[in-house]
Amino acid sequence: MKSSKSLSDTLEGLRKRYPSETEFHQAVAAVLTSIWPFVERHPKYREAGIIERLLEPERAILFRVAWKDRHGAVQVNRGYRVQMNSAIGPYKGGLRFHPTVTLGTLKFLAFEQVLKNALTTLPLGGAKGGADFDPKGKTDDEVMAFCQAFMNELYRHLGHDIDVPGGDIGVGTREIGYLFGQYKRLTMQFGGSFTGKGLYWGGSRIREEATGYGLIYFVEEMLRTRGHSISGKIVAISGSGNVAQHAAERAISAGAKVITLSDSDGFIHDPDGVDEEKLAFVKELKNVRRGRIREYARKFKCAYHPGKRPWGVKCNVALPCATQNELDVRDAMELLRNGVMCVAEGANMPCTREAVAAFTRKKILFGPGKAANAGGVSVSGLEMTQNSMRFQWTRDEVDRRLREIIRAIHSQCVRFGEQKGFTDYVVGANVAGFRKVAEAMLEQGVV
Ligand code: NDP
Repeated sequence: MKSSKSLSDTLEGLRKRYPSETEFHQAVAAVLTSIWPFVERHPKYREAGIIERLLEPERAILFRVAWKDRHGAVQVNRGYRVQMNSAIGPYKGGLRFHPTVTLGTLKFLAFEQVLKNALTTLPLGGAKGGADFDPKGKTDDEVMAFCQAFMNELYRHLGHDIDVPGGDIGVGTREIGYLFGQYKRLTMQFGGSFTGKGLYWGGSRIREEATGYGLIYFVEEMLRTRGHSISGKIVAISGSGNVAQHAAERAISAGAKVITLSDSDGFIHDPDGVDEEKLAFVKELKNVRRGRIREYARKFKCAYHPGKRPWGVKCNVALPCATQNELDVRDAMELLRNGVMCVAEGANMPCTREAVAAFTRKKILFGPGKAANAGGVSVSGLEMTQNSMRFQWTRDEVDRRLREIIRAIHSQCVRFGEQKGFTDYVVGANVAGFRKVAEAMLEQGVV
């Protein structure tokens, strides 16, 4: 029998059931609104309860993480893994260590991940996990103690054909190393059960760079549809972590001028452009010394704006690469007034729904995160392939495959998002991802 629930009933039901999970509501509302006309044209999805099933994680694990800090004091954090959907492959998605992490945050990220992974053309289900642990200000030994305690519970839920975590905010190569080390010790398996591994122990070339590089490849594809290229464009980037650094690196090498970077304290504005040498300083500052971006302004004598985000600066291309909801409708209006022609999400859901609506109304190029930042999980998928083959591809080989995947993602967005001469990439990405997962769920029955 056809489900009679309207879109608004479905969203209202979700809000009532999980009142505190506001980011999850936001992500679901954005996706369902954009796919609803497609779902109405294909009643089989609602007859099979696909929407209701997509909104409920297959499994959510919540656990205590107890560890001792450098003073010998016991600390307790909360760990999570949300295994959202395994219709098209083993669960795949990063771990986030940040004090703001809640179940609602991870459900939003896992929900997005399901559709993103479907777009990559690879057989990957969707998951996300993490903890409300703050790596900032912790020693390496403390981070290791935390990672080991976290893994003491999580390891039993992982495996190369079950669930394969990777990095996200606060989880980089250092943390993946500690997590993998403990996983191996507990299971006696050197499997492909993590991605983002070091190059000497099963990692893939370009994995570290993949999200940022993929973002720029996606931007190039979008610009090409309007006869432009990124060369010569002024680019504003937020964040200064993994995604921001590699987006900047690729943009600079493609001939763009990157004029902003930020962290949670403020942003730097360098009208001369961040060049390779300055970027090497940022990498050392953020990845080794774990310092603040204001030091860039001091060193290279440019403006630093404490407590502000970079969206008031005039640019052609804006790339939010820090965190969710970091670009609101006022920022969007300011960017539009300043003539922005392309906005692409390096982070997950960095633009509020109202901001996205403003970009779409003006018909500028807008690349939603699940398409624009899918390069990271794509190379994670390629890392899993290389682990299964017990082989390591060259940098050129991985980069070529990454570009190919990004082109395929872009084509799917165009195919499903074409609306009277304008590509709505939000509709395109959501419909293409949904369709693949929904078809797999239909074929696998009610589970
Ligand atoms: P990192 O931890 O490497 O960097 C995060 C950056 O964002 C830092 O500059 C950080 O500043 C800033 N930031 C974090 N929280 C806030 C906040 N509340 N307000 C302002 N700035 C903030 O993370 P990644 O670069 O890996 O991830 C960034 C985004 O990209 C996330 O949304 C993530 O989900 C998404 N993403 C990441 C992928 C990956 O492969 N790593 C793949 C796909 C998406 P500070 O140092 O002050 O905290």
